[in-house]
Amino acid sequence: MARRKSRKEAHSFMTTPEKKRKPRTATEATVTAVRRLTPDLVRISFDSPGIKGRELPFTDHYLKLLFVPEEADYSWPYNLAEIKESLPRNLHPVTRTYTFRHVDTAAGTFEVDFVTHGDEGLAGPWAKHAKEGDVIAFLGPGGAWGPEDTYEHFVLVGDESAAPAIARALEELPAGATAAAYIEVADEHSHFEMPEAAGVELTWVHRDGATHGHQLSEVVRGAGIPTQRTAWFVHGVAEMLKEMRRFLFFDNEVAKEDVSISGYWRIGMTEDQWQASKQDFNAEIEAAEEQLAAQH
Ligand SMILES: Cc1cc2nc3c(=O)[nH]c(=O)nc-3n(C[C@H](O)[C@H](O)[C@H](O)COP(=O)(O)OP(=O)(O)OC[C@H]3O[C@@H](n4cnc5c(N)ncnc54)[C@H](O)[C@@H]3O)c2cc1C
Repeated sequence: MARRKSRKEAHSFMTTPEKKRKPRTATEATVTAVRRLTPDLVRISFDSPGIKGRELPFTDHYLKLLFVPEEADYSWPYNLAEIKESLPRNLHPVTRTYTFRHVDTAAGTFEVDFVTHGDEGLAGPWAKHAKEGDVIAFLGPGGAWGPEDTYEHFVLVGDESAAPAIARALEELPAGATAAAYIEVADEHSHFEMPEAAGVELTWVHRDGATHGHQLSEVVRGAGIPTQRTAWFVHGVAEMLKEMRRFLFFDNEVAKEDVSISGYWRIGMTEDQWQASKQDFNAEIEAAEEQLAAQH
């Protein structure tokens, strides 16, 4: 059974106090297979002996892939600590975060599902053109959430970027628990294989040209609040957070400790830009919520 960090550590909206960081070393992974799941989703299998024996108890374990800036004159294998010490920040490797869709720490293998989203960015285009034998380095894995057996029911909400974490949670549901998963995709031609089990209800939500996250928030709101003791996992495009938080915390007073909610990416921003602005974005939402509460 998956377990999670304390709620305080895991809740993505909380700011973590600055910790003294250990120097981090990168691990290598080699592409062993590439499979297109839908027009916008590609599954890549990796061989990575460096993950052998790692303990990965959560269902949202993720890694940070490292991309060397074009203007830098080094390539993998490199010493990350040395690079960070000797080169200016703009020449450090750039990170992109991805979830393990499958991971086998005995064999040292894993799979990642990449949303390819056109030609912009680093990781999406890299995945689009990846082939057997390509090598990439990564940091991590990190992770924080898993379906705990103190809950009877799970509501799992996300777009394609959160589908791997949702799929893994469905595979690790506590005995007897039920789940409702809501996954937003481009349209009816963009469905992919998801775990099926008794007590699991999967709803595909089609954007059909609407802004990412809009239809998803509408459908989840329409479904209402389950009557069982429920945990929520709500991740994906940042644009849905305001609406989902209002639905959960303001309209329905769901306890914050029952909810894991955060933006995995933001429309029009690179991951670096999103990470740099996340705190302000969250603070703005929280201020708007306080104002709303004061009016009632
Ligand atoms: C914990 C965590 C786990 C994640 N797991 C996954 C995962 O398993 N699979 C996955 O695909 N993503 C996952 N993501 C999201 C992924 O890290 C971002 O989508 C990231 O921005 C992609 O990097 P990029 O280099 O392709 O694009 P960037 O350089 O970051 O962005 C370039 C442009 O592409 C847009 N863009 C970025 N992502 C998307 C998208 N999904 N759809 C449409 N447009 C987009 C941006 O808004 C920007 O305009 C995860 C994020 C986090 C924080």
